[in-house]
Amino acid sequence: MADQRVLFVDQSGQMGGAQLSLLDIARHRRHDSAVLLLDDGPFRARLAEQGVPVSVEAGGAVGGLRQRGIGAGTLRGLLALPSLVRRVARRAARADVVYANTQKAMAVCVLGKWLHRRPVVWHLRDIVDASFFGRAQRLAIRWLSRGLTRVIANSQASADAFRALAGNAVAVDVVHNGIDPAPFDAALQRDRMALRVANGLPAGGLVVGLFSRLTPWKGQHVLMEAVSRTPGATLVLVGAALFGEDAYEAALRARAAQPDLAGRVHFLGFRADVAELMYCMDIVVHASVCAEPFGRVVVEGMLAARPVVATAAGGVTEIVEDGETGILVPPGDAGALAAALARLADAGVRENMGAHAREAAMRRFSPLAMLAAVDGIVAQVARVPPDVAAGQPRRAP
Ligand code: UDP
Repeated sequence: MADQRVLFVDQSGQMGGAQLSLLDIARHRRHDSAVLLLDDGPFRARLAEQGVPVSVEAGGAVGGLRQRGIGAGTLRGLLALPSLVRRVARRAARADVVYANTQKAMAVCVLGKWLHRRPVVWHLRDIVDASFFGRAQRLAIRWLSRGLTRVIANSQASADAFRALAGNAVAVDVVHNGIDPAPFDAALQRDRMALRVANGLPAGGLVVGLFSRLTPWKGQHVLMEAVSRTPGATLVLVGAALFGEDAYEAALRARAAQPDLAGRVHFLGFRADVAELMYCMDIVVHASVCAEPFGRVVVEGMLAARPVVATAAGGVTEIVEDGETGILVPPGDAGALAAALARLADAGVRENMGAHAREAAMRRFSPLAMLAAVDGIVAQVARVPPDVAAGQPRRAP
């Protein structure tokens, strides 16, 4: 049983993979811990529904700070930072451990350390390299990392990029996301064809689903080209444009209206019933064109007993065993994706790979194992002497 008071801090009110993972951790620790969001949104209600104490300390202009480059909001964001740092530090001082779930949250928690004097854990869910972060942002992360007590990386790929940037001063543990199999177990009891019909999807032909927010790096446009080369296939895009990527959604819709794809692409928007929807697909595809830090959707597709086609970069290569529990293809390659779909044209091949995938996902991505690892790290960090916790460099074990 957990007994340190943890303040979890997350910059977003929207539901992404990082927030779904925190939901599991915070629900497990809801009796002694709380979540502080730096922006309001649906995440707040999801936490409250699960009995997690949650509040919002609005970051306001801090939301204008970007991952890459200097934008119009940068100066306003920097000016708003001190007030936010102070307000968050006041809350942090009442906890035993401060647990930042996102990078801006990490920055706010580390900057306030001289006020709250609590150990700071960063649950790192990003690959902090030049493909995602600008130079100034990487320098800032390197500098801020000196104030961290511990890093929990969601994959070896995330851990390696962090070490390359920040060196060995902070101990880093790799803890893969665990995914609750219960909704998938329940979905597997449903009638697949009835689910398809209820969602307006065709009962026949190959039905291929991609479950991600609509943004260019998730590669929906690449999969569209692959599906256009796969006769009779239907593409289902589940997810919404969460962070102002409306132009990308408009471009996808325009491409979907062209004659070779007309009527074959379904946009379902953001959905909470992912397990059932995955189960009614023939194939679940992950098409990110950049290295994915982890890739929850890949594990979820496997739990739904689907064959998963995924791009071979980042954390995904730690999840899928190519040819056994899924098929790996190079990122950004529509031809390779189309060839992988063709390999899965046979229902028997799909069935077999899906069964292997489910067994591997159940065994390797258990939520209980993840929660035990996080609890163990939090308990260790809570015992770190205050001078070390106050930001002096630690040696890696
Ligand atoms: N997801 C969802 N509804 C949607 C689309 C996606 O709940 O309409 C979930 C998906 O099931 C997964 C998460 O969002 O759990 C995305 O996590 P992932 O690690 O794949 O990517 P991220 O969003 O963290 O980049």
